Order: sequence, then C-alpha cells, then structure tokens
Amino acid sequence: MKIKAAVVDKVNDPFVIRDDIELADLQDDGLQVKVVASGICHSDEALRKGDAGFDLPAILGHEGSGIVEKVGKNVHNFEVGDHIIMSFYSCGECDNCLKGIPTQCRKYAASNLSGTRPDGSDHFTENGKHISDMFNQSSFTTHTVINKRNAVKVPKELDLRKLGPLGCGYVTGSGTVFNTLKPRPGDTIAVFGTGAVGLAAMMAGKISGCTHVIAVDIVPSRLELAQKMGATDIVDSSKEDAVEAIKKITNGLGVDWAVDTTGVAKVMTDSIAALTQGGTTATIAVTPHNIDISTWNDLCVDDKKVVGVNMGDSIPQVDIPRLLEFYKMGVFPFDLTEKFYDFDQINEADADSVSGKTIKPVLIIDKDYKPEA
Ligand SMILES: [Zn+2]
Ligand SMILES: [Zn+2]
Repeated sequence: MKIKAAVVDKVNDPFVIRDDIELADLQDDGLQVKVVASGICHSDEALRKGDAGFDLPAILGHEGSGIVEKVGKNVHNFEVGDHIIMSFYSCGECDNCLKGIPTQCRKYAASNLSGTRPDGSDHFTENGKHISDMFNQSSFTTHTVINKRNAVKVPKELDLRKLGPLGCGYVTGSGTVFNTLKPRPGDTIAVFGTGAVGLAAMMAGKISGCTHVIAVDIVPSRLELAQKMGATDIVDSSKEDAVEAIKKITNGLGVDWAVDTTGVAKVMTDSIAALTQGGTTATIAVTPHNIDISTWNDLCVDDKKVVGVNMGDSIPQVDIPRLLEFYKMGVFPFDLTEKFYDFDQINEADADSVSGKTIKPVLIIDKDYKPEA
C-alpha cells in the first residue's frame, strides 16, 4: 500500500514529505494504523543529526496516536476502530519481558533501533529500496503497521491528537519517578530541565506526595509553566547556584531524589551535589557527555546513588492508562506543553522543539479527525 511519509534521506537533511512510500503488509500479530497525530521527541532530532548512528534514509517518529484500520489474525485484544497510542516494542518472550521489565527486553535495540521490523523484514520501501523505521512504529506517516505489543488502547472520548507523546516523553519522565525512584510521601525531589520529560517527572513527584518539588531551568517562561504544572519551588540556574538554592529550600540537607533531563555535564554533576545523604539521582538524557563522580565522598561516605533508566522502566500498557486517569483528575496536565502543527510544517515544528520555543510540538497528520467532545 502506498502512503505519505516524512523521510530523512541523509544526516542533517530536512524532513521531506513524499507520497510514494510503500508500506509493508500487516503481519499476523500486527495492527495497521491510520495515524492521527505524532509528537516530535528530541530522540527524533538526535537520529536526524546522526548523533546515534542510525541507518538513513529513515521515517522517524515514535510518539504516534491513531485508529486501528486492520487487525492481524493472531490479535485478540484490539479491533478495527480502536483508538491507540504507539509506544516501543518488546518481544514478550525473553527472560526480562517475562519478569515484567519490557524496557530491558533482550531484543530492545534490535527491534526498536535496527530500522527493520523485529523479524528483519522491511517496514517501508521506496522504489524497491529499504527505508528504516523507528521503534517498529514510525509515526511521521499517514499509515503504519506495528506489532500488537507496540499498542496501548485509549478511551475514545479523549482527544486522540494530544495523546501520542504519552508513548515516549511523558511515560519516560513519570515512570522514572513512579517505577524507579519511588519517592515516599514527605520526600523531596528536584528536576533539572523542564522539557516534556522533566515536567512529567515533576508532576509524578507531586502525585507521589513530595513536599518540595523543585524545578530547575534557565528559561523563565518554562519555570512559570513548571509552577502552573505543580512545582512547589523554582530555581533559575542562570541567576543563582542551583545546588545552594536547593540546599536552602531543603533546610540545608539537599533533596532525596533528583532527575537530570539535560545531559549537560555541569548540570548532571549539580544533580548529585544537590542530594542529601543517601539520595538518588536518575540521569536520563540522551547525551554524549560523561561526568566525574567521587566514589569515596559521594558514593561511599554520603551513600548517594546514580541510576540510569530506559523509558522510565515502564510497561506502556499499564503505565499509560494510569497517566490518563491522573490526567482526568487534573493532576497530570501534560497537554499544557503541547502545540499543534500541520504535518507539512514538520521542519518548523522540529526547529521550535530544538530552540525550546515549543516544549512538545505535535503534528496533526489526519486533519479530518474530530475529537468527540
Ligand atoms: Zn522519544
Ligand atoms: Zn523481550
């Protein structure tokens, strides 16, 4: 079937929308999806710029939402017309998947970042030539085929255009707090960087009962938004020392938990320095930078911990419905970060994401979709 998609041909090329892309056939355990909208994530930009050694040409996008239009014969939990969000793929059969940790699926990289479907077949071609997919999904396209394990069913009464970013950015930030750090009521948390991932981590800290939820950034408008979305304290680290400010807020102790979403070496170091004894920082940015840690003072004497987290240690089919319940309660207002763009404005939307002008650009791919409410 011929579809329309945004292709990146070579490293640093812009997205070019073409309508001669051939979509692979539906597999028995798969779904064919009419894409309604897609968020743009910083990982899409990292692959476009060649920061992650990905095979181009490629159709990127991994925060898609859409409507199921065909169902493979071995799929029993979805039907035509279902509204879904697309997230990452996991095999469901390896030891880590069976332990309930699909983010550590033994086939994670081979299935999500290899550019082909999990069985090695082409997802997309153009004039017979291979085009890579991303996350076994590729949402910068009018239609795609995915595995049932990529899909999360969502209620039809919600505006489907807003929901795609829950599949990556928001589940990553919130899952880091809910699933990995697990703060207790009365704890304190600082989040460095108030992009989509940081704001989600912050809202999760608030929902978990943290008494101080401290947002650290250098952009005043973002800090303002962070306050609107639940930060109890804000620190502009371009104007004051973040570590000192955090110590002051926490009676000189430092925070129990920190999340770094910036990947900037100085900021990652600050996120460790701002911890109280026994505190833990999660560094979750896609970054080429390394940091020095004092193994004696920080890790041994002060008993601090630094943890890495992939995709918020999430199980999308469990975590995303939970986030939607929090959204309905008004305590997880993720859509305040979003701005809609037409599909053909993809390069402008991506540039606005890079410059920070828009926190979460969302491409409207199916202009005919109308929300129920
Ligand atoms: Zn992403
Ligand atoms: Zn697996």
